[in-house]
Amino acid sequence: MATLLIDNLAKTYAPGTPNAVDAVAGVSMRMEDGERVAIVGPSGGGKTTLLMLIAGLLSPTEGTITLGGRDLSGVRPDKRNLAVVFQHDALYPHLSARKHLELSLRSSGVPRRSMPARISTVADRLGIVDCLGRSPGALSGGQRRRVALARAMVRPADLVLLDEPLSGVDDAMSEQIRGGLLEHWAQTPATVLIVTHNERTADQLAGRTLTMQGGKLG
Ligand code: ADP
Ligand code: MG
Repeated sequence: MATLLIDNLAKTYAPGTPNAVDAVAGVSMRMEDGERVAIVGPSGGGKTTLLMLIAGLLSPTEGTITLGGRDLSGVRPDKRNLAVVFQHDALYPHLSARKHLELSLRSSGVPRRSMPARISTVADRLGIVDCLGRSPGALSGGQRRRVALARAMVRPADLVLLDEPLSGVDDAMSEQIRGGLLEHWAQTPATVLIVTHNERTADQLAGRTLTMQGGKLG
């Protein structure tokens, strides 16, 4: 867990061309250690771009991101100590759910002997204990989403980033996932930034909601 500080962050796609898009246009925000914040806004508002900038998968045109007092400029994505779930679950087709969680833990410095207990706890909270031996092709959409979320929850991270965590799953599944995430965070506090077009998701998962439109926070 760590404090996140974003200062005047901007991202222009295709700068200097007729197709230039100011996807993120001067965003400043602060999140306290252990806080859960949601950013809500219409499609095209810049939410995913903001998340990718924090994750280090895109470089900002301007501005800085500081996490736990460390300036992340030029820090590789895998050195940022984040747990990220993108909108499309991005699971490896040939790996079992358990292997996904193990891989996530292996890159986080958790001692090998404590991995099985960590995996069981998170799998239980998200209701995927029965899925651990299966690969993504043998899982339903709701199960795949929970594996993707469990992979992020299982590792200790300074910041958790979730892009549309409840989209594309039905109401009953959404309810189950929400319950699992809230139970997890109650037991294992985390600093979490959620971006979504869905106000209900924001209200349910976050303690504070900001709006974003046209690349700016409202
Ligand atoms: P949101 O997640 O809120 O829907 P995005 O960050 O995906 O918003 O998109 C913000 C704006 O940037 C949109 O106008 C979108 O079309 C544009 N955009 C997103 N990705 C790219 C890209 N790779 N190249 C050019 N424009 C992009
Ligand atoms: Mg998006």
